[in-house]
Amino acid sequence: MKDELISKEKLFSLIQDIYPQLTALRHELHEQPELGGQEVRTSQLVLHTLQKWGIRAEQIPGSTAVIGSIIGELPSGVCIALRAEMDALPIEEASGVAYTSQIPHVMHACGHDVNTSNLLGTAWMLQKLRPYFGGTIKLIFQPAEEICGGVKEILAYGVLRDAPQPSAILAAHVSPRYALGQIAVREGFANMAASSFAITLHGRGGHAASPHRSDDLILAAAELITRLQQIQGHLVNHIEPALVVVSAIQSDGQGNVLPRTVRFSGTVRAQTREIHDVYRVQMKKFLEAEEMCLGIKAELNFHFGTPAMYNSPELTKAFKQAEGELLGVQQVIAVDRPTNGSENFAEFSERLPAVYFHIGGVQPENIGRVAVHSAEFCVEDMALQTGVPAMAWAALCILQGKHGFVQV
Ligand SMILES: [Zn+2]
Ligand SMILES: [Zn+2]
Repeated sequence: MKDELISKEKLFSLIQDIYPQLTALRHELHEQPELGGQEVRTSQLVLHTLQKWGIRAEQIPGSTAVIGSIIGELPSGVCIALRAEMDALPIEEASGVAYTSQIPHVMHACGHDVNTSNLLGTAWMLQKLRPYFGGTIKLIFQPAEEICGGVKEILAYGVLRDAPQPSAILAAHVSPRYALGQIAVREGFANMAASSFAITLHGRGGHAASPHRSDDLILAAAELITRLQQIQGHLVNHIEPALVVVSAIQSDGQGNVLPRTVRFSGTVRAQTREIHDVYRVQMKKFLEAEEMCLGIKAELNFHFGTPAMYNSPELTKAFKQAEGELLGVQQVIAVDRPTNGSENFAEFSERLPAVYFHIGGVQPENIGRVAVHSAEFCVEDMALQTGVPAMAWAALCILQGKHGFVQV
C-alpha cells in the first residue's frame, strides 16, 4: 500500500465526494423497503449502482443476493469479504422522517438501508483506490437476514469456496445505541443464538360461562407461558445468559366463546446449542404433562435458527487498533457484553475469522431513544461518514497487514 496515497485524510476526503450520492441512495432504499427474500428492486439498485461505478457484480440466480468483487492493481493473492444486509421488516413506519417508507406496512426499521448504502460507499471508495493496494475484496449484499435466510444461497454460490478464498469477513450494522462518529465492537461472542418456537393447544371449546364443560385452553396457555419462565435458573444454570419470550398469542375464541385452538409463539435466546436443547426438551415435557392433566392435544414446533455470532479475538483486536488510529481511540467502543439480539452473519463467522461492528447512528442526546425493530426507529445519514471510511480502512489494513493486522 502506498501509505501516503491511502492516508486517513484521503478516506475522509473521498467520503465527502460520494456522500450526496450515498444519501440519495439511502433515502431511495428507505422509501422503497422490501421484505426478506423479496428484495427485487433493492438488489437491482445495488447491482446497477455497482456496475455504474465499474465494479464487477452479479445477482445470484434464484436469489436476490448480489455479489461483487474489486481487485487491487498491486500484486497480492489476499482476499477478504465485506457483507451487508438488504431486507426490511413488516412494520408501519412512524419515524416521521422526510424520506419515510412509501410501502404500506414495510419499513427499514433495523437500518439495513444504511448498511447497504455503507457497503456501496465502501465499494466505491475501494474501487477508486485500486491503483494503491493489492488483493481481492468480495462484496456480499445479503437478502432475507431478518428471516434467518440469505446465507445458504451465498455459500452455495461459492463466494467463500472459490478462489481467491476470503481469509476474513467484515460486516457493519448501524445502531441507535451509539453516537455518530463512534463505532462499537466486541471480541468473542457478540450476541446470542436464536431459536423460534410455536406451541398449539387443541381442545374442547364452549360457552365462556361454562369453562367446566370445555378445556379452557386460554388458562392452560397462560399457565404454560408462565412456566416457561421457570426454566432459566432451575433447569439452566442461572449464571448462563438465557431468555424465553412469548411474543404472539392467537385463539379462535371471543368474549363469550372459549376457543378450540390456542397458538402462541416466541423466541429463545442463549449462547450455546445445549441450552436451546434444554428449552426444547423441557417445553415438550410441559406439553406432555398438560396433555395428561387436561386431556387436550398439544404440539410443539421448535426451530434452532441462528448460532451465536463470534468475532475473532485476534482480528477484532487488530480492528480496534486500526480504527483507533483512523477515528481516535475514544471513538472506538469496546462492547463489554453480548446482546440478546441475533444476526445470521453468525453463519459466516462460524466459517472464517470475522468482525461484526456497529456504526453509531444518532446524536449523543438521542442514544437509546428509539429501539431497533420499532415503528419509530430512525438513524441519521451522517452514520455513513464514519461507517464508509471505517469499513474501507479496515479492509485496506487487513489486505496489507498494516496497523495491527498480521498479513493474512
Ligand atoms: Zn433486525
Ligand atoms: Zn439488522
